[in-house]
Amino acid sequence: QARKRFGQNFLHDAGVIDRIVGAINPMPEDNLVEIGPGMGALSEPLLEACPALQMIELDRDLIPGLRTQFFRYPELTVHEGDALRFDYASIAGRGPLRVVGNLPYNIATPLIFHLLGFRDVVRDMHFMLQKEVVERMAAVPGDSNWGRLAIMTQYHCRVRPLFTVGPGAFKPAPKVDSAIVRLVPHDELPHPAADTEKLAKVVRTAFSARRKTLRKALAPLFNDEDWERLGVNPGLRPQNLTLADYVMLANDLHEQE
Ligand code: SAM
Repeated sequence: QARKRFGQNFLHDAGVIDRIVGAINPMPEDNLVEIGPGMGALSEPLLEACPALQMIELDRDLIPGLRTQFFRYPELTVHEGDALRFDYASIAGRGPLRVVGNLPYNIATPLIFHLLGFRDVVRDMHFMLQKEVVERMAAVPGDSNWGRLAIMTQYHCRVRPLFTVGPGAFKPAPKVDSAIVRLVPHDELPHPAADTEKLAKVVRTAFSARRKTLRKALAPLFNDEDWERLGVNPGLRPQNLTLADYVMLANDLHEQE
């Protein structure tokens, strides 16, 4: 029985499961971590390829079933816990983490931001997300959905949408399309900010008024003299600036203090 409060939509389409595992391409020596294994639909093929899989599952009622179902895999580790609070550095001993998850939609973005805090120990991440969230994450400057999610994700990672999955692949079927996305943390940040909190602040302020001009949207942080000095046209809209532009603004905010 799927539980709504844990955002449980279980995969049951073998073709889709194959495609996901094929895209991940797990190897026996990988330090693979599955978030929210549920009833183990993805876990079985993941374990076949990589028997030292680690799982993190919040619903404690599912844990005994997972242990029974996979008793043939002595190297499997099942962590009962909340992926949003998990200390990923503590399980990175075998090597950089390869994270996989068909996530409940409501925890997807906070979880990705939590994981980005551990980017030094993460090799890559593959997530099933609401399709619209993947589109916002992979947006480019000028797009109507270029915003906070794209900028903060692309600051840390290369974002690659892989394929769409229809509602029929799940039980119960969700109301919306899903998509698989691959996130690979940059080895070196292409546009390092002096302070990521300040970058987050500039981006949040700008996109809280995305239809206004930069002059209006960012009035609490920048004045006309700043725009002149920075060489940015304040008549543009928040969606017209690139990640590099936002980093420049954030680094300037730093200098003002
Ligand atoms: N991976 C399975 C599949 O594809 O069939 C289950 C997917 S279901 C959408 C999401 C799973 O994540 C559920 O098993 C749910 O209990 C678990 N979950 C929900 N919130 C979680 C959290 N904060 N930490 C870890 N697991 C969580």
